[in-house]
Amino acid sequence: MSTMLAARLITAGEPLEIQQVPIPEPAAGEVLVEVESCGLCGTDIHLAVDGDLPVERTPITLGHEAAGTVVQLGAGVNGFAEGDRVAMFPSAVCGHCRFCKVGRESLCEHSKVYGMSRDGGLAQYVAAPAHALFHLPDEIPYDIGSIVTDGVSTPFHALRSRARLCAGETVAVVGCGGLGTHAIMLAKMMGARFIVAIDVQTQALERAAALGADLTVNPAEEDPRKAIREHAGLPGVDVALEFVGGEKTVATALRVLDKAGRAVLVGVGMDKPSLPPLAIFVGKEQAVLGSFGMNRSDIEDLYALIAAGRLDLGKSISARYPLRSVNEALQKLASKDTGVVRLVVEPKRE
Ligand SMILES: [Zn+2]
Ligand SMILES: [Zn+2]
Repeated sequence: MSTMLAARLITAGEPLEIQQVPIPEPAAGEVLVEVESCGLCGTDIHLAVDGDLPVERTPITLGHEAAGTVVQLGAGVNGFAEGDRVAMFPSAVCGHCRFCKVGRESLCEHSKVYGMSRDGGLAQYVAAPAHALFHLPDEIPYDIGSIVTDGVSTPFHALRSRARLCAGETVAVVGCGGLGTHAIMLAKMMGARFIVAIDVQTQALERAAALGADLTVNPAEEDPRKAIREHAGLPGVDVALEFVGGEKTVATALRVLDKAGRAVLVGVGMDKPSLPPLAIFVGKEQAVLGSFGMNRSDIEDLYALIAAGRLDLGKSISARYPLRSVNEALQKLASKDTGVVRLVVEPKRE
């Protein structure tokens, strides 16, 4: 068999096409992975539904949250063998630029994101450079292994590497979709003493409360800053994470900060949020930080935490779809207030 099925983006706004395409040939330093699970992400909605993120070419196979089994090795690959269980870093980072060298792969200068710059994992097979792969521990199923690479590692990167959250601190999560939900679970695991979930969707807030948020606030109904003061007796929070990428939600993240608070912006977009008056922002010694994706170490450490039983992602996968139903899955993910955390596509599923 020399062809496979792949979910290809032809035109944004139109359904992905399930096409029969050649199985990729792994180049030198690459391996061919038979995909077992590929998570769907807000980025896929931007690419396939809204069309407000650019792709380098079309048609292109989407999917940047993949895990599977090594089935073929390109020339010169060390450290992997056929049959190995693996997960993929969400982009084919170069491994040798000044940022890759120091373990800051999220800033790689030659990064090729799957589904944007090269064919991704919403297919039966995908080729990936070996240096951008992870061995998936036997204790971790493929579905969990796949969503960790982005859906869980992105909020972990924001909390650990950017916010530098310390045990005993207080946290606000603005936007409680897939990333925000995992941020709440991770902040709890990392020892946050108080977590407030802020979202306009009822189901998202209910789920946030079930997974560890101490307070939930719908900003359409109640001022979050006032709510934190009244219900928790706190002047604000030490860390506020923003997962939406909007002017209003960034303003909310900044408004709920205590003195010395750090706002970490994870959501992307073209909005131009503004700072509070300088007398407040400077006077309170607050900080605003960007947090983009994740580093290899974030994913590796999450796998170790899951394998050690410290982090349970058993409730993170809301539904599984065969490849032919990928458009149905994208529609579900794009619709509001469905209670979805993460959806995965399993190409081997009938
Ligand atoms: Zn993503
Ligand atoms: Zn690099």
